[in-house]
Amino acid sequence: MDYKDLANLIFPDAKDISYYEEKYPERNLKEGAIVTRIAPSPTGFVHIGGLYQGLIAKKLAEQTDGVFFIRIEDTDQKREVENGTNEIITSLNNFGFEPDEGMVSETEGKGNYGPYKQSLRKDIYQAYAKYLIAQGKAYPCFCSPEEIEQIRAKQESAKIRPGYYGVWAKCRNNTVEEMAEKIKNGDSYIIRFKSPGREDRKIKHHDIIKGNVDFPENDQDIVIIKADGLPTYHFAHCVDDHLMRTTHVIRGDEWLSSVPLHLQLFYEMGFKAPKYAHIAPIMKNDNGNKRKLSKRKDPEAAVSYYEEEGIPVEAVKEYLLNIANSTFENWRRANPDKPIEEFELQLNKMSVSGALFDMVKLLDVGKTVISRMTAEEVYKQASNWAKKYDSELVKLLEDKEYGLKVLGIERGNKKPRKDIAKWSDVKENISYMYDEEFYKDTQEYPYQVINDKEEIKKILNLYLEKYYDDKNDKQTWFDNIKELAGELGYAKEVKEFKANPEKYKAHVGDVSTVLRVALTKRTNTPDMYEIMQILGKDRIAKRFETAMNK
Ligand code: GLU
Repeated sequence: MDYKDLANLIFPDAKDISYYEEKYPERNLKEGAIVTRIAPSPTGFVHIGGLYQGLIAKKLAEQTDGVFFIRIEDTDQKREVENGTNEIITSLNNFGFEPDEGMVSETEGKGNYGPYKQSLRKDIYQAYAKYLIAQGKAYPCFCSPEEIEQIRAKQESAKIRPGYYGVWAKCRNNTVEEMAEKIKNGDSYIIRFKSPGREDRKIKHHDIIKGNVDFPENDQDIVIIKADGLPTYHFAHCVDDHLMRTTHVIRGDEWLSSVPLHLQLFYEMGFKAPKYAHIAPIMKNDNGNKRKLSKRKDPEAAVSYYEEEGIPVEAVKEYLLNIANSTFENWRRANPDKPIEEFELQLNKMSVSGALFDMVKLLDVGKTVISRMTAEEVYKQASNWAKKYDSELVKLLEDKEYGLKVLGIERGNKKPRKDIAKWSDVKENISYMYDEEFYKDTQEYPYQVINDKEEIKKILNLYLEKYYDDKNDKQTWFDNIKELAGELGYAKEVKEFKANPEKYKAHVGDVSTVLRVALTKRTNTPDMYEIMQILGKDRIAKRFETAMNK
């Protein structure tokens, strides 16, 4: 009896690996093309960090005419939730990260290197496990969970390194006959890798993001096939990324310490290892402490949060590029109007430690992104969001022609309005342009410098009687407010007022504020000329009337 016989005994039906090696040939891509992937578990939760990795992977593949694919890692069936795969795919699609290959639904995939879901690849893992066993590089382990626990307890009390290695790896020393005997006996077992490594030797590794790192060699006989017949992450990573011809593994840096094991596995299997880039997690400043964005504590850790808040997809992507490469900010300054697709992402410029997530900054990006949109685009996106999340906004936007006018205020010019960061801001930002909302509002008029009732009446009356006409162009409209100010004893120019404050009651800006507040109940609005144009003289008069009667 030799190892080959043992391999046949364990996996009698598994194919020879040459079958798979031919079925999944080297990809025929141009030099430098990056083949990369994201490999989420279908837990039903998409973390913003997962999206971040997706963005980076997708962009690198695109920049190099490579391939970006999605592989579902569902070998830990305890963690799986119903519909988890679909949720991931939908989230990614919402962000425009449609993969070139990979799962497109719970059960279907596209591409020639699939199946792209690990539970559908059982035969493949078994073939490669068989291949290792046949060479004496893997073996069945019959230790029960209780025995493993005893080993761990002994190691702990003796204060030595935990794990299944060296003298502790009891089953590695069984003879082939002993192993075969136990199997024929019906004893239960798992398959372990027989590590050739030594802890007192070092390996050198160059990580594209982390740089040069030294590690002790791996000497653990890790599990490769579990009792349920499915592989562990380590083994599946090695088999899958080999067969899918991944050139770059871009993943979270919690996997960095597994690199010695992974390189060893690739080497023992006779495969070329991919390049690795380990991404630091996105961090949060929690009262001065830097910590990972947490699924439990931080709503913004979930990708669904951004959709619910209505933060535009473009803004989230742009912000994530911002934290990915510090060079992005300069690029954006130099190219304010270019789409982010034109930015060249560089893996070796990624920060080694975790970047801080800054919601204020993200919302700022949101404001800029929305400010660049046409009224039509804003209308469309805000309506789509509202249909899902805000029925009141749906009602406001019912009249599309009017909606476009309102959303078009100060848009499409050189300095567009920047008061909307997310779709959930829209209602608050436009409600005063709708009479039913405006008159419903019970809030006081926030007058500022000029707040005497009689004086306010005088200003509003005189303005309507003498100085307002719908047909005036912007310059005339503006000059008229100055005239109004002058007639009532206010400085026509702020400069004049500053030079001789004792000569005037206040200045033209203060008069403007009275008009603005009476019209909108706000001190801050986009361009008042455009607001008045949209309201028209009758509605202006009614609003002034209401203000004067307060
Ligand atoms: N399923 C692994 C994870 O979610 C994938 C890591 C990898 O990209 O290889 O962490």
